[in-house]
Amino acid sequence: MNIAKHTVVTIDYTLTDQHGAILDSSKGEEPLAYIQGVGTIISGLEAALERKAPGDAVKVSIPPESGYGLRDDSLQQVVSRQMFNGPGELEVGVQFRARTQDRTQTMTIVGIESDDITVDGNHPLAGETLNFDVTVLDVREATTEELSHGHAHGAGGHGH
Ligand code: ZN
Repeated sequence: MNIAKHTVVTIDYTLTDQHGAILDSSKGEEPLAYIQGVGTIISGLEAALERKAPGDAVKVSIPPESGYGLRDDSLQQVVSRQMFNGPGELEVGVQFRARTQDRTQTMTIVGIESDDITVDGNHPLAGETLNFDVTVLDVREATTEELSHGHAHGAGGHGH
């Protein structure tokens, strides 16, 4: 069976950045299972995997526009240390969830200068060209239940 909209696809993958550093990999872990065509994985990778079959290996370089987007400097802001009232240590690289008007967003601390904390709401991989090395392991039709949940069940999928 070939990968098409609403198939459950199981893949092994390694993701590297422009410099060849490994950002993420399923090696040594469970393969990833996702539903094609519902936006679970980035659009550039979905497009590259469309119509592939088990056993196919795909190497693709995905520009930020089809990955996690371009960096938006307006998402970076300086806030006061008093905004952080939790017991956690404030350190560069620490991520936290912040509630904006209509959604929660993951923010990353990117700078600390005495009481001025610089936080960044960009996805950590925004602006990055992403190099995926993927092997397709399995392709099957998604069940009605999986489609209504928006994720794959079983090995590599969502554990309820
Ligand atoms: Zn489910």
